[in-house]
Amino acid sequence: MSPFSQLLNRNWKTFMMYVVLTVSRPQFLQARAAFSHRHVAPLRSRSPRAMGTSSETTDPLEVYRNKNNNRDQIFSAISGDGGIKVTVATIRNVINDASMQHTMTAVPTDALGRAMTCGLLMANGMQEEQTVQITMKGDGPLRGVVAIATGSGTVRGYVGSPMLGEMSLPEAVGKGSVQVVKNHPDWPRPYNGITAIRHGDIDRDVGIYLAESEQRSCALAAAVSVKGILCTSAGGYLIEQLPGVEPDVVKQVEKNLAQLVEMDGTGNLPTGLLLQGQTPVDIAATILDGLDMKPLQQMEPVLVCQCTEDRLMRSLRLLPREEVEDILAKEQQIEARCQFCGKVYRLGKEEIEERLQNATGDPSKS
Ligand SMILES: [Zn+2]
Repeated sequence: MSPFSQLLNRNWKTFMMYVVLTVSRPQFLQARAAFSHRHVAPLRSRSPRAMGTSSETTDPLEVYRNKNNNRDQIFSAISGDGGIKVTVATIRNVINDASMQHTMTAVPTDALGRAMTCGLLMANGMQEEQTVQITMKGDGPLRGVVAIATGSGTVRGYVGSPMLGEMSLPEAVGKGSVQVVKNHPDWPRPYNGITAIRHGDIDRDVGIYLAESEQRSCALAAAVSVKGILCTSAGGYLIEQLPGVEPDVVKQVEKNLAQLVEMDGTGNLPTGLLLQGQTPVDIAATILDGLDMKPLQQMEPVLVCQCTEDRLMRSLRLLPREEVEDILAKEQQIEARCQFCGKVYRLGKEEIEERLQNATGDPSKS
């Protein structure tokens, strides 16, 4: 490993330190309220009428169907009484892309897939530019996993060790902390929370975070299946109780969930369902069975990295100037590798000096 990627590593830590600040709780609740009332028209809205000949055969959920989960999809719906929100994701293609990008074996793919699924589920319904960052810092051989998702459905992430042999996920993750940072370019400060890793299977740990740190009543599951080097299914669901939900409705959801567990049959929900070809709409419909499901929105998640030369320059500006000068004196250039997508940047001494000279603004603001 070149000293430059270490340099970048150090900088990500600086970045993490910077984001360990909190926004006021009312502001966060306001953001939540805005999101729970958001009603977005479906993407790819084809007229359902074009699919059938008479209105009787028209399927109101046609635009949300996704045969064999061929495309990645996040689908959300709400119970007719507005008490329960369900978000379901299938992200097999994203995970296969990420697995190739990082050359990952099965266990790290599972870890990153679960973290990305949790991030996307939590970011769903938020403002497009809002980000949810999940950082699992464990003492296991995985050396941590990071996933960042946005309200627009983009996601990126990485694991500390992409090549691990056979072992269980909790063994790979180890003990440590779950940190969640929510941010928006317009917020004065990010919202941050932290809990301990209890299980090491990521989705349950993030679920505990939601319950303990955000006092949210919800059920969260995420799972990945890998065959050889191919991800065959990846996805999950988030079920949230919204304010004022009736106890009867909660009971019905619990009954439906028991049914879902039985249908899945793997004990690794929702792997069995996804492998059976069940889609986010099918899974949401089972969870909200008997509760008059109303679709909210769907989107197609995509793996997108936000690294640029400008961002690298901002990272360099956050480091002590002597450190940068020291490297430039020795190497005549700086080489840095983006941890999220593996892209390598090389900037020459003169260019860096000139850009540092002319840089303005706060480098810690993106
Ligand atoms: Zn990148």
